[in-house]
Amino acid sequence: MREHAVVISGAGPTGLMLAGELALAGVDVAIVERRPDQGLAGTRAGGLSARTLEVLDQRGIVDRFLAEGQVAQVTGFAVTRLDISDFPTRHNYGLALRQKHI
Ligand SMILES: Cc1cc2nc3c(=O)[nH]c(=O)nc-3n(C[C@H](O)[C@H](O)[C@H](O)COP(=O)(O)OP(=O)(O)OC[C@H]3O[C@@H](n4cnc5c(N)ncnc54)[C@H](O)[C@@H]3O)c2cc1C
Repeated sequence: MREHAVVISGAGPTGLMLAGELALAGVDVAIVERRPDQGLAGTRAGGLSARTLEVLDQRGIVDRFLAEGQVAQVTGFAVTRLDISDFPTRHNYGLALRQKHI
């Protein structure tokens, strides 16, 4: 069995992002995932929050996501819709997405 400097348990968004960052930093990293394939029950890609868009932007990949979705004021608290268009960020909105590969 091959050894790695870092082994990440779980190929969800957290594990994949961490693995990507470590790989970019030149760290020998592997991911182990207990699910046998990429199939999920239901959809978990209805949309992205402003903070998620900011993080993707920091990594230079936000345009790929923006191209697939619809910018909208989707932030809410309980049943109240919040308009964050005056927030001091390049992404003062949410992104409505529909998972294409389900
Ligand atoms: C119904 C639903 C809808 C959602 N919609 C959205 C949305 O529209 N937008 C959004 O931003 N977020 C959404 N979320 C939230 C989003 O899915 C989570 O925030 C995100 O998946 C968390 O990522 P994670 O990597 O921390 O955990 P997870 O996605 O749970 O990934 C953990 C991974 O680790 C694996 N694992 C666990 N234990 C082990 C083990 N012992 N060994 C190996 N592998 C293991 C699991 O199989 C899994 O693949 C939604 C969540 C749900 C449930």
